[in-house]
Amino acid sequence: MPRKNGKLAPYRKKRQFAQTPEPRGSIKKSKFPIFVIQEHHASHLHFDFRIEVDGVLKSWAIPKGISTNPKEKHLAVPTEDHPMEYAHFEGVIPKGHYGGGTVMVWDIGTYENIKEVNGKLMPMDQCVKRGRIEIALTGKKLKGGYALIRTTRKETGEYYWLFLKMNDRYAGKPIKSMTKSALSGRTIKQIAESGEEYEG
Ligand code: MN
Repeated sequence: MPRKNGKLAPYRKKRQFAQTPEPRGSIKKSKFPIFVIQEHHASHLHFDFRIEVDGVLKSWAIPKGISTNPKEKHLAVPTEDHPMEYAHFEGVIPKGHYGGGTVMVWDIGTYENIKEVNGKLMPMDQCVKRGRIEIALTGKKLKGGYALIRTTRKETGEYYWLFLKMNDRYAGKPIKSMTKSALSGRTIKQIAESGEEYEG
């Protein structure tokens, strides 16, 4: 296995690309780092939050979805790194396959790392490693600061991540077009019915 694809090995291992419309994808860097949030109607509805770090999309599944209220801290479960091409994936993963169900690009855009330590930006790979991510989003729906914080459960010593809105001028603002794709304008029902990948 070529070493440069190592980070995508877990992603590829879970999928049969002849049978799912999901991209095999690649590791590559954007000019400005991107984020994407996908609404995923799998066996359990969740939102996948992904941010570009070192050429892949670092990913978390958020069962409770997105809130602009800084007091609502939502559990975020880390999942495997996804290829960059996944940011534009919208369509239907066949039943019986990994993540089977309909995927909608709920929001997409760029982000800026705003995590500072002693007045200096902490590099993104360090933010992920240390579980201290603070980023400003410029999406079609979401704007401003969001944080992903890793904490340890006192009783068990287990790690868990929380996703939350940071307190800024966008905090508490209602989200526009909650139910429509930020990529194609379609609803989840329209995507499910067309059953096709968005070719935009
Ligand atoms: Mn998912």
